[in-house]
Amino acid sequence: LYSSSVPGRVRVAVRLRPRNAEESVADADFADCVELQPEFKRLKLRKNNWDADTYEFDEVLTEFASQKRVYEVVAKPVVESVLDGYNGTVMAYGQTGTGKTYTLGRLGEEDTADRGIIVRAMEDILADVSLESDSVSVSYLQLYMESLQDLLDPTNDNISIVEDPKSGDVSLPGATLVEIRDQQSFLELLQLGEAHRYAANTRLNTESSRSHALLMVHVKRSVKGRELPHSSQNGNSTNMAKSLRPTLVRKGKLVVVDLAGSERIDKSGSEGHTLEEAKSINLSLSALGKCINALAENSAHVPVRDSKLTRLLRDSFGGTARTSLVITIGPSPRHRGETTSTIMFGQRAMKVENMLKLKEEFDYKSLARKLDIQLDKLIMEHERKQKAFEEEIERITTDTQNQISEAERNYVDAMEKERLKYQKDYMESIKKLEEKWMMNQHKLGERKDQTASTAEEVAELKKLLSKETSLRKAAEEEVNNLKSQLAQLKMSEASANSESLKLRKMLEDEAYRKEKLEGEISMLQTQLLQLSFEADEVLGLQKILSLLEAEDADVRIHAVKVVANLAAEESNQQKIVEAGGLTSLLLLLGSSEDETIHRVAAGAIANLAMNETNQELIMSEGGIRLLSITAANAEDPQTLRMVAGAIANLCGNDKLQNKLRGEGGIKALLGMVKCGHPDVLAQVARGIANFAKCESRASAQGSKTGRSLLIEDGALPWIVQNANNDASQIRRHIELAVCHLAQHEVNARDMITGGALWELVRISQDCSREDIRTLAHRTLTSSPTFLAELRRLRIDY
Ligand code: ADP
Ligand code: MG
Repeated sequence: LYSSSVPGRVRVAVRLRPRNAEESVADADFADCVELQPEFKRLKLRKNNWDADTYEFDEVLTEFASQKRVYEVVAKPVVESVLDGYNGTVMAYGQTGTGKTYTLGRLGEEDTADRGIIVRAMEDILADVSLESDSVSVSYLQLYMESLQDLLDPTNDNISIVEDPKSGDVSLPGATLVEIRDQQSFLELLQLGEAHRYAANTRLNTESSRSHALLMVHVKRSVKGRELPHSSQNGNSTNMAKSLRPTLVRKGKLVVVDLAGSERIDKSGSEGHTLEEAKSINLSLSALGKCINALAENSAHVPVRDSKLTRLLRDSFGGTARTSLVITIGPSPRHRGETTSTIMFGQRAMKVENMLKLKEEFDYKSLARKLDIQLDKLIMEHERKQKAFEEEIERITTDTQNQISEAERNYVDAMEKERLKYQKDYMESIKKLEEKWMMNQHKLGERKDQTASTAEEVAELKKLLSKETSLRKAAEEEVNNLKSQLAQLKMSEASANSESLKLRKMLEDEAYRKEKLEGEISMLQTQLLQLSFEADEVLGLQKILSLLEAEDADVRIHAVKVVANLAAEESNQQKIVEAGGLTSLLLLLGSSEDETIHRVAAGAIANLAMNETNQELIMSEGGIRLLSITAANAEDPQTLRMVAGAIANLCGNDKLQNKLRGEGGIKALLGMVKCGHPDVLAQVARGIANFAKCESRASAQGSKTGRSLLIEDGALPWIVQNANNDASQIRRHIELAVCHLAQHEVNARDMITGGALWELVRISQDCSREDIRTLAHRTLTSSPTFLAELRRLRIDY
């Protein structure tokens, strides 16, 4: 009889708990690990000092969100659905101490503004129902190690779940069901349940954070006749007809679940549990995770039957339930891992891409294989084509050259032969003429009387001359002929040249195609590496690490990029280090000359350097020396930023102070400031602040005496110059460093001469952060040297 169904998507809100007192002190120097952008419904999860991931939720509730607002966005729509006769679920998921109980279960007896979701939900329900015709009743249960206990009747500690085989509805016939008629009795019931929960947990030697608490509110309402849609066609249904209709009852069930803490208790012996117990404690929560994954993926099989919790919630995840999940997180960067997994749980519950990825994961191996084969084929074909093409070019070029030089040779030979021949003929004719001329002269002298024959002679001479002339003409013609032949030859040479130009163009095109193909190949290679890692983490990782030493520079670049991507994920870091990745990355800094490799490797090292064990490893492998050399040779500010980030992380390790300084770590940091890039300066400032903080701790414990090593290494002038830097990122670190240095009298003289006293005075008066301001003031007023200096200068402080 449900009137309509509600879209079933799980709505997910994320709520950030404010810093608690302990975190305000311990994490004072660190930014929260998340940044909320409620106006965009976005959450940014900082991976480290230089990188963040962004996630979207249905609602983003900041640390300032009021309990009323949380109720309104998370639970009110669900409560309204329950009053309309649907099933509804409100569930809180998160690490212990992040505010699940605060969000759901606060009674708000001292301050009404503090009331949590349960109390407000019941207020809304009671305000909406009619006590004559409707009923509201509740059960309150605890689920611990797969046993369901009745919190309203502690003797009832193994309640069974009954499922209607037809409708699939679950019910708990054994659970106490108490009818609620007013808010006060409900509050008393909750308190009673809490007291029983406390007693039960003491008996079982566990904490409430290990168990799930479930409150079930059954709302049964009778629907008045007039609220029903009219069934008669003419609209004259009589009162009689109305009264014959059975009373319509709408049953809605609200389930509020305060889940066990989501942190893993995978170590046996924690709180006296054996490994088996630990597994059992986790069973319901991990089964819930699996069901949510399966539902989100639209998987055919949802493993509902794997745990009691999922069996209980089957109804709530069915078609008519409205489910709202609030995931609670804390701000501390120390719990980044838990916070991340909570966020991922919430994201899966919202069906984001991460699920698709899980789905694809099954196919990764075969996809990687396919890509691998395709890639090899492409490479082979490319190589083959390239070879054939080059051979063709070479053949054509030699052919053309041979042709041209042969033609040239032939031409020169022919020309020379002709020339010689005509020269010879000509000379001979001339000689003949001369001889004749001489002969004639002679005859003339001899026979002056023979004038008659002279005319004949002249005529003959003339004939000879004209013959000569025509011979010459023929020779000239021949020369012309040869000339035109030469011109033709020249033309054919030109066309041969244009042919080779065309070939050259083709060669260029081919080179361009080759470049493109190589780009694609390198992209595929990166993908392939990533895929092979995802397909088989251990083998994949080893393969990738071995490629860091590949001969081909491109392959090395791909490999180091993949390693860096993996190293950015906290969950991969240990595996990378165990497989020798950190050592390989450090070696790469020393052995490679390529700046891209330096930058990417330094980034990966910086990520790995967030962990204390890795920090020691980096130091013992000569990391400072390698990072310093990398910095000295770097041109790209991003390389410097990564190097500075890595050293800054090392600076925060108490145990490594002396070694780090001894190997030139501080000098290396200071050396990088000349690049001037604000991102680099921020990392340098962070490193100095970290170092100063550790030093200050060591001095306070008495394990360090003497001047600060930062002052020894000449950091003070830069500190003073930048203590009031416009970039708040830089300023905040330096201000802290100044305060730390000022806490030890041995540093006071140097600080006065270096001008740091004025910065301390300024910080104590204008710093925008109250805690730093107070710290500066306290430090100043507890130093006799500073106070004496101020008095000497007649400055009232
Ligand atoms: P969980 O149930 O997840 O273990 P709690 O609800 O017990 O966490 O919260 C842990 C502590 O943090 C409690 O002292 C609680 O009062 C406090 N707290 C949680 N959320 C908030 C909040 N939004 N504002 C102020 N204090 C909170
Ligand atoms: Mg709790």
